[in-house]
Amino acid sequence: MALEFVYAQPVKIYFGEGAFAKLTTVLDECGVKRCVIACGRHFAPTAEAMKEKDSRIAAVFGGVEQNPQLSGVIETTRLARETGADAVIGIGGGSAIDTAKFAAAIALGDAEAIAYYHGEKPFPEKRLTIIAVPTTAGTGSEVTQVSVVSHGSEKRTINNPAFMPKAAIVDPVLSSTVPPRTTMNTGLDAMAHALEGYWSKNHQPISDLMAIEAVRTILENLEKAYRDGSDMQARANMAYASLLGGLSFALPKTAGCHACSYPLSEDYHLPHGEACAFTLDSFVRINADERLELLCRRVGLSGTEELAGRIAELKKLAGLRSRLGDLGEVDLDKLAHDCAVHGLMNNNPVRMDEKALRAMFEKLA
Ligand SMILES: [Zn+2]
Repeated sequence: MALEFVYAQPVKIYFGEGAFAKLTTVLDECGVKRCVIACGRHFAPTAEAMKEKDSRIAAVFGGVEQNPQLSGVIETTRLARETGADAVIGIGGGSAIDTAKFAAAIALGDAEAIAYYHGEKPFPEKRLTIIAVPTTAGTGSEVTQVSVVSHGSEKRTINNPAFMPKAAIVDPVLSSTVPPRTTMNTGLDAMAHALEGYWSKNHQPISDLMAIEAVRTILENLEKAYRDGSDMQARANMAYASLLGGLSFALPKTAGCHACSYPLSEDYHLPHGEACAFTLDSFVRINADERLELLCRRVGLSGTEELAGRIAELKKLAGLRSRLGDLGEVDLDKLAHDCAVHGLMNNNPVRMDEKALRAMFEKLA
């Protein structure tokens, strides 16, 4: 088949140890006059200190939660509207970045956040500049147009060009204090992004290259970063792999493993990375084909069985939940149904209906 694709990547990426110090330059380059920071509680004191030093930082919302809530988007939007901000900076894991993206996209609109959340109003044509600063190595949210936000028990993944950051600052030093278990969760999320971008029905050559390099780098560095968080070489390699993972799925989108992660997060409260890791080795086996065998050989593995085994070992090392029994009381019918009807399941190269998903989960009993 003749080679044909459309590739675009609009985010300017500043990568390197100490790159966070370039934030002032990035604000200059993006023409930012007034901005709001969205971050989690642990970064909030640093953000407040930054606000004291740079008069362009008009307000800080420091209450982003692990599974970001619409209430955080509402608060960040309110601060942006009240201060007349022209940019929103998200500093943190995917939660903070997704909150910043959503607030920046709707701040210039005239409706309440809930109307955009439920798709009752189209996103406004004009939006604020988004600057993303990841502090974990995993989500890749800094280079995608995806925002995952919860409202009560509902968790929605919204895919919209309005969410695309203008600039991303990826500084591995910011990830040096991430605890081991979160390092593993987020690292396996990055692995899922790379593999799902690669096996997605919409995969394409440039994204494939980044996926292969991401998988290779994660296999070489995730265990090191987990065992010794102060290993800056491993942290830097994981930050790079996470970025590549984000770029791998930004266009092709993720597939079955991410589709299953949503019911696992909503009903069984697994963090996103752990929810993706829960079925990742199962999907490696289900989606095994010639292309995936080729990826395995290119990253130095004997084949898909070894890849699935390596993922299972990493999960075991960090004590991640990986059997149905780890989830408490499981409603298998509902779980299989909810996974089957998730939109991302359509991207999976192997068709997975309710029956096939039930069989997959039964093997994890
Ligand atoms: Zn993910």
